[in-house]
Amino acid sequence: MNFRLLTLLFLFAVISTSCVSVQVKDNTVSTITSEIKKPKNIILLIGDGMGLSQVSAAIYYKDGKPNFERFNTIGLSKTSSASDLITDSASGATVFSTGVRTYNGAIGVDKDTIAIPTIIEQLSRRGLATGIISTSSIQHATPASFYAHVKSRRMYEEITEFVPNSGVNFFAGGGLKFFNQRKDGKDLLAAMKAKDYEVSTGQLPQTTTSKNQLILLAEDGMPKMSEGRGDFLLNATKLALEKLSQNEKGFFLMVEGSQIDWGGHDNDADYLIKELLDFDKTLGVALDFAKQNGETLIIVTSDHETGGFTLASVGSDYNKIKPSFSTPGHSATMVPVFAEGPGASLFNGIYENHEIYHKMMALFDK
Ligand code: MG
Ligand code: ZN
Repeated sequence: MNFRLLTLLFLFAVISTSCVSVQVKDNTVSTITSEIKKPKNIILLIGDGMGLSQVSAAIYYKDGKPNFERFNTIGLSKTSSASDLITDSASGATVFSTGVRTYNGAIGVDKDTIAIPTIIEQLSRRGLATGIISTSSIQHATPASFYAHVKSRRMYEEITEFVPNSGVNFFAGGGLKFFNQRKDGKDLLAAMKAKDYEVSTGQLPQTTTSKNQLILLAEDGMPKMSEGRGDFLLNATKLALEKLSQNEKGFFLMVEGSQIDWGGHDNDADYLIKELLDFDKTLGVALDFAKQNGETLIIVTSDHETGGFTLASVGSDYNKIKPSFSTPGHSATMVPVFAEGPGASLFNGIYENHEIYHKMMALFDK
């Protein structure tokens, strides 16, 4: 090793140690260089069950260029849970909302069923605005993991009891029946109104209000795209951005394309692709907002892949694709992470799913 190389190595070591290190759980370290500009806002978009073949379907089945191609930073996330090699959507979302790997079925609780503060609860306490949008019910595993703490994802009525005190400023999705047709006879819509929420159950409001908003447009999950859901996800995201961006301290918005996963479970390629294209369209809204806003980081990822989906050839005809499945369940494949905006470079590389939470929280720590 010559002297010049030694000098270079020394300089590199000095530069490296001048970076700000953030110690996080599970003995992993996220290093953020002092030059990284931190975002004021984060939009986390989760395509439930969306692996690389699902994303690839946007290339082959969309007229025009997919919004996925507008991202410059791409990473890969390993998706195992604490209990299983293959995660379900409850532990898969809890790891994003809390940074803690837990057992399949857990909503906002750790391996010992102890509640862990979620990113939304922490940011809400700091005065940031927060929102949750989903094409399932808002009590379904993915959205619930951001505001509720229960030992099993099937406890929909118990999950709903967390909504009035969640502090979340904007909810949109399905799940009305868990508020007003409950086994315990409680009227949780009245509880929401008492907490000064504006409740909408007919259609998506055209404009936002100064009040917190609870928008429930289906008894349980929202309809499929093929059954007339229309531009709900896109328009709800626009509305949420209009509302949350009024907060001077910033905001965190979680948007879920829930039914990409359901198409995978049904091994129904047409269902899956229509849901995926709806999600891609919504990415366009988020990206346009971020581009104009300049202080918003967009992260797009998935909890796991569903269906063992693949874009296989039709026998030896390499000019024809036959979308195929290898399981009615989930698979262990890594899922892509797309990032754009201030702090995006942190999402390069291959890492564990819990790192996504720690990276987001490190970017919110001023
Ligand atoms: Mg989900
Ligand atoms: Zn699933």
